[in-house]
Amino acid sequence: MKGIAILGSTGSIGQSTLDVLGRYPERFEVVALTARARWQLLAEQCRRWRPQLAVLADPTHAAELRAALAAAGLRTEVLTGEAGLVVAATLPEANIVMAAIVGAAGLAPTLAAARAGRRLLLANKEALVMSGRLLLDAVAANGAELLPIDSEHNAIFQCLPPTRPGVVPAGVVRIWLTASGGPFLRRPLDTLAAVTPEQACAHPRWVMGRKISVDSATLMNKGLELIEAQLLFGVPAGGIEVVIHPESIVHSLVAYSDGSTLAQMGNPDMRTPIAHALAWPERMESGVESLDMLRLGGLHFEAPDRGRFPCLRLAEVAARSGGTAAAILNAANEVAVAAFLEGRLNFTAIAAVIERVLERQPAAVVSSLADVLAADGEARRRAMELVVGFAGEAA
Ligand code: NAD
Ligand code: MG
Repeated sequence: MKGIAILGSTGSIGQSTLDVLGRYPERFEVVALTARARWQLLAEQCRRWRPQLAVLADPTHAAELRAALAAAGLRTEVLTGEAGLVVAATLPEANIVMAAIVGAAGLAPTLAAARAGRRLLLANKEALVMSGRLLLDAVAANGAELLPIDSEHNAIFQCLPPTRPGVVPAGVVRIWLTASGGPFLRRPLDTLAAVTPEQACAHPRWVMGRKISVDSATLMNKGLELIEAQLLFGVPAGGIEVVIHPESIVHSLVAYSDGSTLAQMGNPDMRTPIAHALAWPERMESGVESLDMLRLGGLHFEAPDRGRFPCLRLAEVAARSGGTAAAILNAANEVAVAAFLEGRLNFTAIAAVIERVLERQPAAVVSSLADVLAADGEARRRAMELVVGFAGEAA
């Protein structure tokens, strides 16, 4: 029996993880569940999974959650805040930690799980992107295992021979990172400024949380993934190429010096990478059907248009800059996307805010977590000011 803590259990990845785990009650035991604020859903999950710990990052409704769990006769302890998340990530009973919080809020517990030497299933790409080598170093120094959940990185992992994270395997000449292109791949450019959050979140292939959905519409998601791949696989940014593949069947590819190119394919369903990482190096059923090659039809590939998707270009610049550039990019993006989702910023202004923050805040060397958090905080302040400025211009 393996114990698993799910950070962000009420989200899209968290719920897909529970769906896979529900098939193996004799193999996995859920020991901790966490959410930001959705206490009713967290209570429902606790009634079904009976974890020893439940954490609400936002403490507002902790009393309601405690009362609901007590009424159900559960002995689940309830903790709150970042400290509670860290307890969940480092419970002695948690052999496996699913890092599925969205954004920089997941950094502290994800890093704590790495330091505790756990098998870390990493969906929370922002934590890796902003901290760079710090997270990988913590994994290496503490005998943790890092398995990527992001479908592209899980695909690349499957196409590579086993190596330590961050060490480039011999014979690899290029990684092809596939991108669906999101909902606005063909939309007339002059209509982009006016798109609504609902339109941006209506992804043609994947059902996901709102922040990553917007990132997929701007292609910032692919930019963050480029940095994620650079770190995970030890390949310089120039060795990774983004290719648009609207069908989202090929999840990424690895090209070798002998002319071989290996691809991982499957229906677009996150339960596949989740089950892969839970069972690795074995395999287990995920509830996802394998492809029917007789019905698949055509698969298409094309170059991304960086004029249409300036966020991809900005991420590529940050990837080459190194140091705190990725943390600055990520923080500015989180602020701009939140403002867009709240109706305070136009879709096309997301890239404009990030570009100005990157111009005004030079990248510094990362030697500690404090460097990362300082860059993150400063970029957030600058981005918030710019958002207010843009809102003023629009009014
Ligand atoms: P989501 O918005 O559906 O869920 C996010 C989860 O994090 C929720 O449980 C929420 O309660 C929790 N959370 C949010 N803010 C928090 C905070 N401040 N403190 C503590 N907890 C907080 O997001 P998602 O789509 O499940 O994505 C989660 C992560 O996985 C993201 O980093 C995303 O990029 C990555 N990812 C998602 C998918 C996907 O298909 N959904 C695919 C690849 C990678
Ligand atoms: Mg992805």
